[in-house]
This record gives sequence, structure tokens and C-alpha cells, in this order.
Amino acid sequence: MAHQYSCSACEFQVRSEDQDEVIELVRTHAQDMHDKSFSADQVRDGIQTV
Ligand SMILES: [Zn+2]
Repeated sequence: MAHQYSCSACEFQVRSEDQDEVIELVRTHAQDMHDKSFSADQVRDGIQTV
């Protein structure tokens, strides 16, 4: 089972079996690309298990 997140603002997508890794990558992406700060909980809400 893997955890997947699709950015709502661009085509960025990340998938990993390590949920913490997904959260960290998404938070870095949002900060760098969209100048947005997401909490871990906010990212977790958007993660799909695939
Ligand atoms: Zn994005």
C-alpha cells in the first residue's frame, strides 16, 4: 500500500510507502512552488491510500 498526494494547484504528484516522506515532500513543494505553509495534518487530509 502506498500513500499518494496530488497538488491541487499544479501537476505535482508524489507517491511513497512512507507517509511521513510524502508529507515532508508535499510541505517542501508547497513552500517552494506556491509559497504556502501546510501543516502535517493538512497534508495528511489530502493523502490518498493507493
Ligand atoms: Zn503544486
